[in-house]
Amino acid sequence: MELIDIGCNLTHDSFDTDREQVMNRAHEAGVAQMVVTGASPEGSRKALELARGFPGILFATAGIHPHHASDYDDQVEALISDLIGQHGVVAVGETGLDYFRDFSPRPAQRTAFESHIEIARTARRPMFLHMRDAHEDFLAILKASRGDLTSVVVHCFTGTRDQLHDYLDLDCHIGITGWICDERRGTHMREYLSDIPDNRLMVETDAPYLKPRDLKPRVKTHRNEPQWLPWIVKAIAQSRGSTPGQIAEQTTHNARLFFGLPADPEG
Ligand SMILES: [Zn+2]
Repeated sequence: MELIDIGCNLTHDSFDTDREQVMNRAHEAGVAQMVVTGASPEGSRKALELARGFPGILFATAGIHPHHASDYDDQVEALISDLIGQHGVVAVGETGLDYFRDFSPRPAQRTAFESHIEIARTARRPMFLHMRDAHEDFLAILKASRGDLTSVVVHCFTGTRDQLHDYLDLDCHIGITGWICDERRGTHMREYLSDIPDNRLMVETDAPYLKPRDLKPRVKTHRNEPQWLPWIVKAIAQSRGSTPGQIAEQTTHNARLFFGLPADPEG
């Protein structure tokens, strides 16, 4: 099985002491390539730096998470525009809207999101988007600009079936995480996972966050790792009446097309 984790926060400081072991474990579990999420100015710089150390295996995104939208200014915009032109950076993001935590004021989130869209439009690059509890505003902004954009993934999708279809209608890809393994809040998703067309589905861990809650054998740490991506793939396969092998093949194909990744990570 060959998998691609399209969203892992490998620059997170929880990986500082054993990052290479984490990557090795992922590799042994069949995770051939990983896209390292850039979520802040410093994090985006670090993601590219890390990716450069493992060409063909690690790739980076460049963006500012909505939580940090109040820090967004002309300098940050210039940084993202610069990073997106560099080899190894494969998407603009993560960006979007998060009204669940509201760590940044909503108008600031919308302004930063629209600026990311403008960067992606100009550079003709894919977008890696985050949406939580902000569907109406997020959809309105995306609808207005979707025609100007190439590919768009709504990463870590956790919404309702109607919301899913709103994004599919806009020709978005959908990133699925271990959220679906959470019996408290993720099981509603099992019912509509098969609505996602084969060529729109991608998989991710969002590590170190969102460790699958039903992971077996149980591990003590709260930290999620890309090595557990096959567990998520297995859950998706069950819900879609498919096999893990088929899901792996399809989502890896989709991720390579979406981000423009090379087919042979060793090559
Ligand atoms: Zn996110």
